[in-house]
Amino acid sequence: MKNVCVLGSTGSIGRAALEIIHHLESEFNLFAISCNANTSLLRQQIELFHPKYACITNPDKARDFSSLPPKRDFRFATTSSTTILTGIDGLKELASHPAVDIVLNALVGTIGVLPTLSAIKSKKRIAMANKETLVGYGSLIMQEVEKNNITFIPVDSEHSAIHQCINQAHSSVRRIILTASGGPFLSTPIPSDITKNLDALKHPVWKMGEKISIDSATLMNKGLEVIEAAVLFNIPPQDIKVIIHPQSIIHSAVEFVDGTIIACLSLPDMKLPIQYSLTFPNRLPSLIQPLELDKIGRLDFTAPDLERFPCLRLAYEAAYTGGTMPCVLNAANQVAVTAFLDKKINLMDIPVIIETVMQSHQKTEDRRQETEDPTILLIESAEQWAEVEANKEVQKLCG
Ligand code: MG
Repeated sequence: MKNVCVLGSTGSIGRAALEIIHHLESEFNLFAISCNANTSLLRQQIELFHPKYACITNPDKARDFSSLPPKRDFRFATTSSTTILTGIDGLKELASHPAVDIVLNALVGTIGVLPTLSAIKSKKRIAMANKETLVGYGSLIMQEVEKNNITFIPVDSEHSAIHQCINQAHSSVRRIILTASGGPFLSTPIPSDITKNLDALKHPVWKMGEKISIDSATLMNKGLEVIEAAVLFNIPPQDIKVIIHPQSIIHSAVEFVDGTIIACLSLPDMKLPIQYSLTFPNRLPSLIQPLELDKIGRLDFTAPDLERFPCLRLAYEAAYTGGTMPCVLNAANQVAVTAFLDKKINLMDIPVIIETVMQSHQKTEDRRQETEDPTILLIESAEQWAEVEANKEVQKLCG
């Protein structure tokens, strides 16, 4: 029996993970969970799974949740058998708890950096679904993974597919073929004022959280995945080819030096890569429907249109530049997406904001002094700088 800690248990990946843990209850025990603010769902999860710990990242929500006084600044007592922690210190404590075997990081945003580092240093097996942490801090994270010799399995469907393909052959990789469904605007015009109808942004294939749905509509999600793949598999970005594949049956593929391509196929359902991240190197029966290729009939592939989707071009540029640039791209995107969700800007303002911030980062003093492997402090300061700059650009567009 393995004890699993699910950071971000109320998000779409976290909820699917709990279903899998319930399905495989003879193999896995839900030891700890966390949420940012959705405490009503967290309460339901506590009642259903009785985890030993739960963390509420947002301190105000934690205070509302538990009327009992805190024992320490990040530890609250509850009436049930579940201990409630709070804040980033709570997340770090869960990620490094001696009883935890697997940490599934399903957090959204770079709040996941420090808990990930805690888990790595405590030699946990990590199932990684926290995209922004890998994009901004990937080289640092992968250095620590190597140093601590831990098992680190990506959960993102594409990177899970690549992981599965690479594990099939003892050969050198020539290229990675990263598939993209193309999002909701693959063949329909992008409305100039979409803020009034966010439903139009629903993804045609995958059911996902708010932020990643916007990233999929701009293809920034694919751009972030290029950066993620480059750090995870130590492949230069020019050897990662994005292909639009609207059916999302091939989750990605790997081309080896002899020209053979191994691809990973299934019906699109995040439960499969989540389960693989928990059971690897074993495979167990899953909850997903089998793929019947004769019913699918055909699989289509086209090249992405970088003029229509400038976010993908910007992400490649950030990947080529390296250093703190991927983190700047990610931070500017985060600010722009939030402004879009707050109905302050249009969808196509997002790449404009990111490009402006990236260009001014290129010119700043500290970029010239920057080394190949920036320290955590350097990345953090670039991230904060980019947030401020992106907010200024949002203000200009609103004003
Ligand atoms: Mg993905």
